[in-house]
Amino acid sequence: MKSKIVLLGPPGSGKGTQGEKLSAELGYTRLSTGDMLREAVRKSTPLGLKAKEYMDSGRLVPNDLIIGLMKEKIAQVDGGVIFDGFPRTVEQADALAKEIDVDLAINLDVDDEELMVRLTERRTCPECNCVFHLVYNPPKKAGICDKCGCELYHRDDDTEATVRNRLKVYRENTFPLIEYYEKLGKLVTIMGKGEIDEIFAQVEKAVR
Ligand code: AMP
Repeated sequence: MKSKIVLLGPPGSGKGTQGEKLSAELGYTRLSTGDMLREAVRKSTPLGLKAKEYMDSGRLVPNDLIIGLMKEKIAQVDGGVIFDGFPRTVEQADALAKEIDVDLAINLDVDDEELMVRLTERRTCPECNCVFHLVYNPPKKAGICDKCGCELYHRDDDTEATVRNRLKVYRENTFPLIEYYEKLGKLVTIMGKGEIDEIFAQVEKAVR
């Protein structure tokens, strides 16, 4: 069983959803840099104050801030770990390689048109970070998180203009990581379009 897993794929490709399911099933720790940063912004920590303007415009937060944050989190993890949204640059991947031996990179492949629909209609729980889609995966009660009962919100960076920029940033900075992990013989690409459970079945297969 693979236990050090990186989830790759553009914003909206399902990294959070599939990472959550995998973490629940295997008891692995899910480390999401996006969730950590949003929490830091909410709490107005020094990191949050620095990260906010990058996040709001869909740009990447500088490598040194992210790498420092991840090193701290990795040091606290015991057992299997799923990285969601990290690494996002080759520099981050190199830094990660110095900390742990990644044994699988799952690339969730979804086309831009689908990503745009997913992200602009996405609603997120500020408390437990669960995500819903108004059409494809609506919460049982409108506007309320199924898992913890909190009010869902529309992320500031899930608007059409910012999503376009995030997709551009993904292509320029993160897309090269597909080749990076392929060269290491660690890459599995999964079509990320379709039913959540069907995609998860393939994710599980890759991990076993
Ligand atoms: P996400 O929730 O993964 O889509 O991340 C939301 C935003 O947080 C991104 O658009 C970036 O501004 C920032 N972010 C998250 N992870 C990283 C990372 N590994 N490197 C740089 N910025 C990041």
